[in-house]
This record gives sequence, structure tokens and C-alpha cells, in this order.
Amino acid sequence: MDVRNCKNCGKLFQYVGKPICPACNKKLEDKFFEVRDYIYENPTASMSVVSEELGVPIQQIKKWVREERLAFSKDSGITISCEKCGKAILTGRFCKECKNSMRNNLSNLYGTENTVQKQKQAAASSNGKMRFLKN
Ligand SMILES: [Zn+2]
Ligand SMILES: [Zn+2]
Repeated sequence: MDVRNCKNCGKLFQYVGKPICPACNKKLEDKFFEVRDYIYENPTASMSVVSEELGVPIQQIKKWVREERLAFSKDSGITISCEKCGKAILTGRFCKECKNSMRNNLSNLYGTENTVQKQKQAAASSNGKMRFLKN
């Protein structure tokens, strides 16, 4: 059994992958719903207002946004920047473009099928050329 001290209240608890104890985790979850409702009702509230009004550190709000659990509305004027290219985004860690390019990189790395297909295509086109030259 892995027992650790809660990062938040310091109490010992059984570690199950989260750095805080179940009680603190529950409190944090409640806070999350409070923040989410608050942003829903006050779509133009800035991050510092939300933080002050609800007593949640801005870092925590940003974390939820990065986790795509919270998203700011377009009219809020609040954005966070893409961790790759710095473009303004409303939620998550990366902008659409970076997400797409990362997905492509991933399929290049793991998509052997893709590579085989490309090789086949290359072979086919060179065959075509040869035929064309013969004619
Ligand atoms: Zn705790
Ligand atoms: Zn980006």
C-alpha cells in the first residue's frame, strides 16, 4: 500500500495516482463545478475576477483550462496561449493547427501502413512513367 502526505492538507492518505487526499480532491471537484457555473453565468469575467470571487488560484483555473475541463467563451476576451506556437486559444494546451500537425507526426511514427501505401504509390507512379517512356 502506498501511503503519502496530501499536497494540500498534509494528511496521510492512500495514494491512488493523485497528489491530494480524497477529501481535498472532493473539495477541489466542488470548486471546479462552482468555477464552471460562475464562468457560465458570467461569461465575460476575467480569470483574476473568477479567482478572487471564488478563492481559487489562477494556476488552478489555468490547469482546468489546459485539461479542457473549462473553456472560456469567445466574448470573454480571455485566452491562453498554445504551448507550441503561442497562438491564443480558449481551452486545452495546443491550437487546432498544432494538434493536427502533432496527430500527423504521430501517424507518421506509428502508421507503418501509411508508409507502405506511400511506397506502393511511388512504385506505381514510376511504373507508369516507364510505360509512358516505352510508348
Ligand atoms: Zn488533503
Ligand atoms: Zn499552436
